[in-house]
Amino acid sequence: MTTLFRNALVLAMDDEHRAEPFRADVLVVADRIDAVGPALEVPDGATVLDATDRVIMPGLVNAHVHSWEALFKGRYDNLPLELWMLLSYPILGLEPMSERLVYLRTLLVGMESLRNGATCLLDDVIESPTQSLAALDAVFRGYEDIGIRANCSGNIVNRPYIDSIPFAAEVLPADLLAKARDRRPRSTDEYLDFSREALARYDGRAGRLRYVIAPSGPQRCTDDLFVAANELSAQHDTTFHVHVLETKMQAVTGREFYGCTLVEYLDRLGVLSDRATLAHGIWLTDSDIARLGEVGASVAHNPISNLKLGSGIAAWRALADAGVNLALGSDGLSSNDSARMFDVVKSAALLHKVTNPEYRSWPTAAEVLWAATRGGARSARLAGEVGAIAPGYKADFVLLDLRSLNFTPLNDVASHLVYVENGDSITEVWVNGQPVVRDGRCLLIDEQAVLDELRGLAAEYLERYAKIEELNQAFEPYFAEIYQRCRAERLGINRYSGDEAAWVGGA
Ligand SMILES: [Zn+2]
Repeated sequence: MTTLFRNALVLAMDDEHRAEPFRADVLVVADRIDAVGPALEVPDGATVLDATDRVIMPGLVNAHVHSWEALFKGRYDNLPLELWMLLSYPILGLEPMSERLVYLRTLLVGMESLRNGATCLLDDVIESPTQSLAALDAVFRGYEDIGIRANCSGNIVNRPYIDSIPFAAEVLPADLLAKARDRRPRSTDEYLDFSREALARYDGRAGRLRYVIAPSGPQRCTDDLFVAANELSAQHDTTFHVHVLETKMQAVTGREFYGCTLVEYLDRLGVLSDRATLAHGIWLTDSDIARLGEVGASVAHNPISNLKLGSGIAAWRALADAGVNLALGSDGLSSNDSARMFDVVKSAALLHKVTNPEYRSWPTAAEVLWAATRGGARSARLAGEVGAIAPGYKADFVLLDLRSLNFTPLNDVASHLVYVENGDSITEVWVNGQPVVRDGRCLLIDEQAVLDELRGLAAEYLERYAKIEELNQAFEPYFAEIYQRCRAERLGINRYSGDEAAWVGGA
């Protein structure tokens, strides 16, 4: 298929133009952008579309999402991460979700992503209580069918969750502790076998799906698993995607478990490199930040999730100045509670303005768009493949209507995209040279049928799930106690608004 978009307003996000728009034709041949420039010749058999009223920009890259949470959007409020996880990732009593529900749940995430302009995502599939290849298969089938570019992980955790929480052994009663440790986690070898099988089955499928390596967190896996997973990630050149220092409790965890910061711990294991993406990266010390910059690591910044769970505010400017690659993520659909990337883009641009009165250090619209496109692509090991409208790049892009409410009247295009646009102006979304959304609807699936079936199955599932939540409330008082204990710790890192002497610049 060859398509020539005539006279579009191009926001290329390439090295030359970055977020400076210009008028040009864009030629798409098969799955790639072939040429960008004025008055391009029409190749034989090409479809020519007048794009005079269109902005064309690279599709947004969601650098961190968990499809597991898709059934829990709008379900929880006013809980910090560790107390929220008791409900959204329960320790006791949970049975695996049916493969059909996993498939529909995946379509829901894909639908919300594509319709809001995200053409690529990294789904850290934390399937609870444990992940089978059949469940992972349902995730890959979902993303394959809906047409999005997806990087999906296996659920890599090989310590009982309770043993990743500081002070748990002192605070929890023995019987509850024993129950929480009851389910044997997989061994390192079992995880490696699972990942090798998943790489063989899925990595590269349909020219847009990848299996990626994502040990859940340095407090949730053993050393040997971390080292072996990193080797596997190097062999297959996938991202090495890890939750690091999302909360103050995790900062305390580093000190309690390893006597150092969690970044220092990862560094000692030799697993920090330019393949590493740290999800969140909030409670970092200055030297952690410098080290991440040195190795060329990425941070997937999730501003909405961090606000919702009261986790704190990542040090955007310090990270950028240190040379850390910044990418943007929605995080899971329960801590956000959606996968809409235009919301994330706007939040990222706004949030850091309140952390520093020095207004010249605030993120610019262009920088935020860079993080949402090129930064995300680099984090996903897709640099040079996606994230720009330029020859040789995959044809993953969004067309927006310049005559829409959001673009009327038109001032600065980048600022409109960051501060005004909510996805309403999107007329088409293309992935891998194929239109996948037109006029607000996904083209490759029957949206209404998916939503109808999902509503029925989700209602049954959530009815059973409510009993699981009740069962896991047994942990709540002890987790609340641990939370308060960590909250009172003095770490010399200020990333938290509204807490004791911790407001940046407000102490
Ligand atoms: Zn996460």
